[in-house]
Amino acid sequence: MALNGTYDPDNIFAKILRGDMPAVTVHEDDVALAFMDIFPQAKGHTLVIPKGVQARNLIEMPGDRLGSYMLRVQNITRAVAAALEPDGIVVTQFNGAPAGQTVFHLHFHIIPRWEGEVLAGHSGGKQADMDELKSLARQIAAKV
Ligand code: AMP
Repeated sequence: MALNGTYDPDNIFAKILRGDMPAVTVHEDDVALAFMDIFPQAKGHTLVIPKGVQARNLIEMPGDRLGSYMLRVQNITRAVAAALEPDGIVVTQFNGAPAGQTVFHLHFHIIPRWEGEVLAGHSGGKQADMDELKSLARQIAAKV
């Protein structure tokens, strides 16, 4: 899906927000939902999605909702840092399929990095063990 298009209310993240699909939740409030990526590029790979908007990407995010959403992205990044103590953290976001986007509801990736550890491919990693994801989510949630 290119940059221009229509928001699909049945995209995976919209379904997660409605409770129609499960997710391993880290933290949730009225602005955003943070949950574990089930194909993590690294241990602790977390996604943060805005609630109450039909924004496929950053360009479509209403400006008056962006600040509160980005504060959640920062808060979860801080919690990932505190919980997992990585050597670095990638915070990234893709706009449009040619840029690498595969789910068309705005989201930021928070990907911890450790010295010498190779990053799994974007959307190419293997599905994570659910018990491990739940344990990581608990560790991160404890630091939010
Ligand atoms: P992007 O390619 O930037 O749109 O990122 C979408 C991300 O969602 C990828 O990293 C996928 O691994 C992740 N993903 C896809 N389906 C799910 C799901 N059901 N629960 C959690 N993460 C998912």
